[in-house]
Amino acid sequence: MPVTHTTSTHEYDVAIVGGGPVGTLLAILLGRQGKRVALVERWTQAYDRPRAVTYDHEIARILATLDINSENDPAISYHDELYYWKDAELQNLQIVDWQSTSASGWRVRYWFNQPELESRLTGIANGFPCITQFRGWTTTDLSQDASGVDLTLQRNSDEVGPNGETQQLRAKFLVGADGANSFVRTSLGIENEDKGYFFDWLILDMIPKGPYEMKPAQWQLCDPKRPTTIVPGGPGRRRWEFMVLPGESNEEIQKPERAWELLEPWGLTPDNAELERSAVYRFQARWAKTWNKGRCAIAGDAAHLMPPFAGEGMCAGVRDAFALGWRLNAILEDKMGIEVLDSYTTERLAHARHYIDFSQELGKIICISDELQAAERNARMKAELAARNNTPVPTDICQLGPGIWCEESAHAGELSVQGVVKTSTGQDRFDQAVGRGWVVIGLDADPTEALTEAQRKQLTLLDGMTIKIGSPGTPCYAVDIDGTYAKWLAQINARYVILRPDFYVAAAANTPQVLQQRFDKIISQLHLQTAKAEALA
Ligand SMILES: Cc1cc2nc3c(=O)[nH]c(=O)nc-3n(C[C@H](O)[C@H](O)[C@H](O)COP(=O)(O)OP(=O)(O)OC[C@H]3O[C@@H](n4cnc5c(N)ncnc54)[C@H](O)[C@@H]3O)c2cc1C
Repeated sequence: MPVTHTTSTHEYDVAIVGGGPVGTLLAILLGRQGKRVALVERWTQAYDRPRAVTYDHEIARILATLDINSENDPAISYHDELYYWKDAELQNLQIVDWQSTSASGWRVRYWFNQPELESRLTGIANGFPCITQFRGWTTTDLSQDASGVDLTLQRNSDEVGPNGETQQLRAKFLVGADGANSFVRTSLGIENEDKGYFFDWLILDMIPKGPYEMKPAQWQLCDPKRPTTIVPGGPGRRRWEFMVLPGESNEEIQKPERAWELLEPWGLTPDNAELERSAVYRFQARWAKTWNKGRCAIAGDAAHLMPPFAGEGMCAGVRDAFALGWRLNAILEDKMGIEVLDSYTTERLAHARHYIDFSQELGKIICISDELQAAERNARMKAELAARNNTPVPTDICQLGPGIWCEESAHAGELSVQGVVKTSTGQDRFDQAVGRGWVVIGLDADPTEALTEAQRKQLTLLDGMTIKIGSPGTPCYAVDIDGTYAKWLAQINARYVILRPDFYVAAAANTPQVLQQRFDKIISQLHLQTAKAEALA
């Protein structure tokens, strides 16, 4: 007979449902600012099925704020090579630049193992006493009122303890990072927009027992007989993804014996490799129509799903966590109004949609199993590649949707450029050498002098800072060692840039007057809490 009892209500600043990469990262971002976080996760153990293997430079920049350095971490690898798409005869159809260093200061792509990253994040979260983790508990009910959100948690019988045991939580805010079938999204009555895109792929994670070299390291085989993705899987691992063809059975194809048959042409056998995981996934493309409602928000797969062809699904979720982190911290510190959560939806939804569309377009090219269509595609893509002399396409730059940035300003709404700078404490990438938050930089000009007194106080309220960057040999706080800032600001004809806590450009300006106007515009969108702002005035 299940025991049913309800313990007393616990109070938190933020309750997060879902302890995947997105929920756990958000918990850390709030916990390190001292917020009381309840992180509720259905399972006691990390989910160990194959999923993400690659993230981009922006995620490397975010992980660096947790002291996870993608350049020299034993669990993360990179390959300084281009990314190729080839036809069945191994002729190039497309070449993508995955070997450069991106403008944001990190390599374009890194490779990793998702369960390892998740356990790393959980380990970091464990270090914050203000984060309480409810593992083995499922959120089964929620309701919100003007001042908070109430949650009911139920103990999982198949995990720990008797089914039926429940407890109540109350938090000022709730974030649903509870994956594709999000209970939070459904409970809030938020509908999905669905692109009606479905393809099933078999995902095989392999651990070669000895050295195994794949040339090129990362590529797509666009063979209509079996579209295949061949990529690294982080140190010591390789990943193969095989499209399940029309008429094939998902159950049948994911059996180990079938997996080994598919791997044989690639030189992998049970003697020289371990089949770590084999699973069929249905690739989908969809997004939730809004990502915030009252005191609740959704993030990660709960808010968007995309096929993994661009390697951007988890990346989008990590950006969500980062975008929510600075907003929720500021709201909870009575600095900003709850209205800033609206810009979370408008900015992030448009950004994620870009990657959903992009991934879906890639999928349309890759998932062709018809010989005639494949021949047409090959001819078109080869002609396009030849027309641009086989030049690799750069990875794209994506802008936020409308929100807290000045549309009239160059580079605003885009990830900021990052260079190496030297300060009195050492030399490093700007984020590590100087720090992050609301930062106004001035090139060979002191932004403190360019702002009005009232604006300096507003920046103080936001825990922001002004940084003068200068060429080597000039008086400044941060020396532009490799000329990155001189080049960037010359390109956008600016002397000042306002950076946000998520590294996006809020505004750029070439005179103190324009800086002041644009600073005011940004501040007006932050819903600064007037009592605090007036007290500082
Ligand atoms: C085959 C494949 C390959 C991929 N490759 C890449 C890639 O290379 N790069 C990339 O960026 N992305 C990739 N992705 C996408 C990436 O894996 C996901 O976007 C990412 O895992 C989403 O993280 P999340 O935290 O939002 O959700 P999840 O990882 O799904 O976590 C949600 C958590 O919520 C918990 N939960 C759910 N409901 C409740 C409830 N009611 N109460 C309590 N807990 C609950 C679940 O147990 C789960 O742990 C890939 C996906 C697939 C399937």
